Amino acid sequence: MRLAGLFTRPHEGEQDAPAQEEEPARAETPAPPEPEAPREASVIAFANQKGGVAKTTSTLNLAVALSEAGHRILIVDMDPQGNLTMSQGLNPDQITRSMFDVLVHRLPIEQVIHEAEVDLAVSSIDLAGAELALSSMIGRERALEKALGPVKGRYDFILVDTPPSLGLLTINALVAAEGVIVPVQCEYLSLRGLVQLENTLSMIRENLNPDVEIQGILPTMFDGRTLHSREAIEILQENFGELVFKTRIKKTVRYAEAPVKGSSVLKYDPSGNAAAAYRELAKEVLNGAKARKHA
Ligand code: ADP
Ligand code: MG
Repeated sequence: MRLAGLFTRPHEGEQDAPAQEEEPARAETPAPPEPEAPREASVIAFANQKGGVAKTTSTLNLAVALSEAGHRILIVDMDPQGNLTMSQGLNPDQITRSMFDVLVHRLPIEQVIHEAEVDLAVSSIDLAGAELALSSMIGRERALEKALGPVKGRYDFILVDTPPSLGLLTINALVAAEGVIVPVQCEYLSLRGLVQLENTLSMIRENLNPDVEIQGILPTMFDGRTLHSREAIEILQENFGELVFKTRIKKTVRYAEAPVKGSSVLKYDPSGNAAAAYRELAKEVLNGAKARKHA
């Protein structure tokens, strides 16, 4: 049960949490109950350098499903294209302060969080300049981790959507995260890119964040009628075994329709199969049995 453990993991680099000291054992008085460790958000990044594999769709809909289940959720749009921001009905072109200011100018993240179906830290087109602006900064890979620190106590899960590349914005997400969910389109050619993602993750584990793990591979756009889709799942399972989520996200136009209305599929079509699939995924994530290092 990795997720349960994540809540109690002390946040590295936090200044104000005093180090726990061992109390000397006293003979008669019973030991006072252990103070409950403050619950901190588990940070999950959605990553795959291939575009169009349902990273953004999965970030939003898993977030809303977890929120329905009673968890406090923040989603963070780290993609300059701002699809996650748009999918909640906000226009990235009209946003003045965004994750760009948070990452580059250290603006407190609270100031770019909008209340939507779940709390949303927004992107704007400025974010396209963040990779360049960050590249000459000390601590450039840890800007997101630093920014999330002050709000981690307010949420149970922080889900981070990333752009379709393995550049500095995605690296920031992988450094801030404990778990990575990798949406993969059920097509042979999509599977090949996973090796590159795994290499990046190994590098990040060695140099920047030893704790980051693939939490699960999520097959998306699954079409059970085609042999090709079924074979793609088989290949995934041969290579990643238990890491492949049991939930399969089927191909349906519902996922494209919902963002047009500025809503998740759970709000757009609450009793449909598309919504049910992400509720199923939420259960799997909460059960958290998936985690194991895969390098
Ligand atoms: P990414 O963030 O990886 O680029 P998106 O989440 O934006 O991918 O999805 C790409 C496109 O595919 C979007 O138009 C989205 O609405 C659509 N889409 C996402 N999931 C599905 C699905 N399961 N079936 C059909 N279309 C989907
Ligand atoms: Mg996207």
